[in-house]
Amino acid sequence: MANARRTALVTGASRGIGRAIALGLATRGYDVAINDTARQATVLEGVAKEIEALGARALPVHADVSSRSDVAAMVAEVEVAFGHIDAVVNNAGILIAGTVEALDEAHWDSVMDVNAKGTFLVVQAVLPGMRKRRYGRIVNIASIGGKHGAPEQAHYSASKAAVMGFTRVLAQEVGVDGITANCVCPGIILTDMGRVNLDDPTVRKTWHDKTALRRIGEPEDVVGTVAFFASDDSAFVTGQSLNVDGGIVLS
Ligand code: NAP
Repeated sequence: MANARRTALVTGASRGIGRAIALGLATRGYDVAINDTARQATVLEGVAKEIEALGARALPVHADVSSRSDVAAMVAEVEVAFGHIDAVVNNAGILIAGTVEALDEAHWDSVMDVNAKGTFLVVQAVLPGMRKRRYGRIVNIASIGGKHGAPEQAHYSASKAAVMGFTRVLAQEVGVDGITANCVCPGIILTDMGRVNLDDPTVRKTWHDKTALRRIGEPEDVVGTVAFFASDDSAFVTGQSLNVDGGIVLS
């Protein structure tokens, strides 16, 4: 694989952590298919231009990752355009805050549908191509919320714990075909989603003070670990969930 040009699919790539990952992989020599919902069509085109400016190919693909038909069409489009998918980064995610008692069922379902089922559907769609080539790198963006969690995020925490459990079993099933599967668990990262935790200055200071490195994370802080799991430097690492949180959850 050493001389072949790498290809990656990153979901939820129009902004935040997904955009940073897409640009980071392009910088590291990958052609990158960038996914987001149709709502983000114009923004996604802008990210595609940024990737192309780095000398890589970019392919914007609209799909709701919680829809099996959208995901099937997306993966088929990427495989036709790029020939194959070396690495997939399941980054698309949503967070709707609410205490267990106040949470309505629809919110529980949508968080599970995007964060957990979306990861499953994308993995299921890319596996035939990866198995055929006997090579693949699956990187699932979970969260320290799936290990530790915070009030008003029980459903989000459950969805990210599901992603980690899914990844541990996935790794055991696909390793025989040279495919690795790992999770990256960001801490508090300054994005539109992260602001749910950060808008209140008192809460922001609490997270800042809880972080060993004494700063709030930026989207770019997540990129190096994702690139490691997407690369051959991690060829003998699978089924792991690594915190990228500046030192909040220590194990
Ligand atoms: P963000 O700024 O809200 O971006 C999330 C992206 O995912 C958006 O572009 C969003 O598009 C897209 N998306 C949402 N639902 C989708 C769907 N059904 N199909 C395709 N794309 C969809 O969030 P972020 O902070 O960058 O988070 C990225 C990932 O990191 C998520 O999995 C999140 O759970 C995880 N994470 C974040 C933090 C943090 O502090 N920021 C911490 C731990 C883990 P729309 O706007 O159209 O919905």
